[in-house]
Amino acid sequence: MRYEGPIYRPPSEAHSLLIQATVGCPHNRCTFCLPYKKGPRYKVRDLAEIKADLQTARDVYGEKVRTLFFPAGNTIAMKTDDLCEICRFSRKVFPRLERITVYGSSQYIVKKKPQGLKQLAAAGLSRIHVGLESGDDVILKRIRKGTNSEEQIQAGRWVMEAGIELSAYVILGIGGKERTNPHAVKTAEVINQITPDFLRLRTFVPKINTPLLEEIQNGSFQMLGPHEVLQETRMLLKGINASTYLTSDHYTNYINLEGQLPDDTPGLLERIDAALNRDESIFRPHFVGTE
Ligand code: SF4
Repeated sequence: MRYEGPIYRPPSEAHSLLIQATVGCPHNRCTFCLPYKKGPRYKVRDLAEIKADLQTARDVYGEKVRTLFFPAGNTIAMKTDDLCEICRFSRKVFPRLERITVYGSSQYIVKKKPQGLKQLAAAGLSRIHVGLESGDDVILKRIRKGTNSEEQIQAGRWVMEAGIELSAYVILGIGGKERTNPHAVKTAEVINQITPDFLRLRTFVPKINTPLLEEIQNGSFQMLGPHEVLQETRMLLKGINASTYLTSDHYTNYINLEGQLPDDTPGLLERIDAALNRDESIFRPHFVGTE
C-alpha cells in the first residue's frame, strides 16, 4: 500500500483498512484546518493504483477486512463512476466487508445529486463523515468552509435518503466568544433538519500555521474557556430534538458525552452541569495543536 501526504482518519475508523483514493483536499481553505495547508495539492489517484493497493491488502490480510476507509480530505469529490468502481472492487476482494467510508464536505456532496448518491450506495459506499463544523452562516463564512447551512441541510438529507449513513461533526467553540450563542442555536437547527445517524463533537484547538491561530494572536478571535464550551454544549444539546447518536470521540473535548439524543439528553445535561460546578483549573489547559 502506498500513501502520499498526511493521512487522517476519524477515531471511529481506527480499525479500518486505509486505502488512499485521493490526495489532499480540493477545498483546502478552512481557516482552522492544518493537514493539507502545506500540500500536496488535491488529486485523485489512478484507479489502477488504488485497485493494486486493495489487492495488496487482500494478499496481506486475506478476507478478514470488515471496514474500509478511503482517505484523504474530500474523497467524495472523486468522479462518481470512479468512486463506485473502487467501492465495487473493494466489495469483491473483501467479501466480508461491512462498511466503506469517506470524508465529504457538503459542497461536494450536493454535486452528486440524489441520483449519484444512490449510485454510490448501490456500489457499496456505506458512510460519509461530514464536517458541518457549525450551522451558523456567519461562522461558516468566517472559517471559509465553502458552504452554508442551506447546502449542508440539502447534502445531509440527500445522503440519508440515499441510504448512506451520515456522521456529522461539529466544532465546539469555533465561533469564539462572539458567536457562541448563534453557533449553538443554529447548529442545533441544522442537526434537527438533517437527523444524522451520528453527531460527533470536537472542541476547537488552534493549530499552528493556520489563519485562525493568527486571528487569535492579533486579538480578532477570542477563544472560549472550558466553562464557556460546556455552556455552549448545553445550549446545543437542549436545542436538538432529532434522533441522533451523540459521541465526543476526540481528545480535544473537556468531558466525554455519549448517548442517544433526545432520550439521553436530560442525563447528559446533568453531566454538563456537574462539570460546570467544578473549577476550570481541573480541565485541560488551552493549547496550540502541533503537526
Ligand atoms: S474541507 Fe476538510 S480537509 Fe478540506 S480544508 Fe476544510 S476541514 Fe480541512
